[in-house]
Amino acid sequence: MTYDFVVDSMLGKTAKWLRVLGYSVYYDANSEDDSLISLARKHSAKLITKDRKLYYKALEEGVKAILVTGVSNREILKELRDELNIRLSINIDETRCPKCNGLLYKTSKEQVKDMVPRRVWENYDIFFVCNKCGAVYWMGKHFKSMKKILDSIRGD
Ligand SMILES: [Zn+2]
Repeated sequence: MTYDFVVDSMLGKTAKWLRVLGYSVYYDANSEDDSLISLARKHSAKLITKDRKLYYKALEEGVKAILVTGVSNREILKELRDELNIRLSINIDETRCPKCNGLLYKTSKEQVKDMVPRRVWENYDIFFVCNKCGAVYWMGKHFKSMKKILDSIRGD
């Protein structure tokens, strides 16, 4: 697997959003600065960080890095749009598992019958499974609210 972005340990939420947007993202809550820098170099990935020290260190070592200063997820996504021109729309064929960065594939309704709450199974027809951790996804409330937030950021 190659990564588009390496994200520091303070930006777990951002990492999840970027994966849903279809980017391949490395994130580990316990990662060390040096390993983030070397990983970003190895993958020619951009390092996204809130940590000024890490940011300057990465630049010194010739790694492309973005320092985000926003507090809310919304502010951070805007900064990434402005700095990196990331797309702020969800293409379900490219979406990655927010938990583990695995790829999602479409599965049949029958296949997930015992894996999702009954009410969900009855109300949705399209399901996706992560090829790495096996998590099951559907376009429920959470997904719709993400879409709404993205729409509103694009409108700003
Ligand atoms: Zn997964």
